[in-house]
Amino acid sequence: MSKPRVLITGGAGFLGSHLCERFMAEGYEVYCMDNLVTGDMANIDHLGGDPGFHFLHQDVTEYIHVPGELDAVLHFASPASPIDYLELPIQTLKVGSLGTHKALGLAHAKKARFLLASTSECYGDPLVHPQTEDYWGNVNPVGPRGVYDEAKRFAEAMTMGYHRYHGVETRIVRIFNTYGPRMRLNDGRALPAFMSQALRGEDLTVFGDGSQTRSFCYVDDLVDGIYRLLNSDEALPVNIGNPHEMTIMEFARAVIELTGSRSKITHLELPEDDPKVRQPDITKARRVLGWEPKVSLTDGLARTLDYFRDRVDSEMRSGKVAGQEQA
Ligand code: UDP
Repeated sequence: MSKPRVLITGGAGFLGSHLCERFMAEGYEVYCMDNLVTGDMANIDHLGGDPGFHFLHQDVTEYIHVPGELDAVLHFASPASPIDYLELPIQTLKVGSLGTHKALGLAHAKKARFLLASTSECYGDPLVHPQTEDYWGNVNPVGPRGVYDEAKRFAEAMTMGYHRYHGVETRIVRIFNTYGPRMRLNDGRALPAFMSQALRGEDLTVFGDGSQTRSFCYVDDLVDGIYRLLNSDEALPVNIGNPHEMTIMEFARAVIELTGSRSKITHLELPEDDPKVRQPDITKARRVLGWEPKVSLTDGLARTLDYFRDRVDSEMRSGKVAGQEQA
């Protein structure tokens, strides 16, 4: 019997590359598509030698062609950090809207199941806490994060359109803050910023007073939730994230403690529309998928630290200036 075949857009990114690995391990033939705007070939180099792995250097907002049959399409392409949206606002809007349309069209044509990577940003600066899937959100459409939030909300609407009108089997995962190896060192998110600052002995930059909260999920737990969702019957959105909520100050202190760094904490201005709280209600994921996160923050941070230590060391060896993006 031939192997099941999956297309993963954004497959050379942080989450995409972990998904490629998981689907290979599950016996799939994997087509990894990426335009490498924020993705990195280094994330998938180790998969390249496998005959069941194929890389397609392509922009998902253009017409996409994939040879042969497909069983599943996972749409994970998008800039995904607040500084990325500021630098790439049009690409962010296009990949969430036009890219989702192309990926859905492909899934429809191939009679494949479709899974959309959506986001807790759909809830904006939430007025319901913790966030349940039936909360419609509090998003500023014209703020700096609007390009991401609204593109993802449109992507959810488009996905449900294809589901209701064309009968495509669709799944929507709302992903909460996730961390782990292969995050870009300088993508501006809290974990890469804090870890690389602690390892370089620089001050950790906490935005605002650090009382805003987030709930951080280790990447392996997230990937497991996504795999289960794809194989479930649930067409409406499902939150996947770790409900362990903490303030950003507590998170910064946890990174300093883990690294044993002598770095101090410095405060910078809070970015516009930065959500004050965020915590997934995962009752639905528990019920429908039998899923909940297993990796504690201490274990997850320790696993992530090994990766960041290697990256910061090689950055220092190659004499790159701190704060400069690595190839
Ligand atoms: N943050 C911070 N210092 C940094 C980067 C981020 O204090 O160097 C804060 C940010 O303001 C937010 C939280 O950490 O309140 C999480 O930010 P991130 O960019 O990781 O993701 P978000 O949840 O905002 O999308």
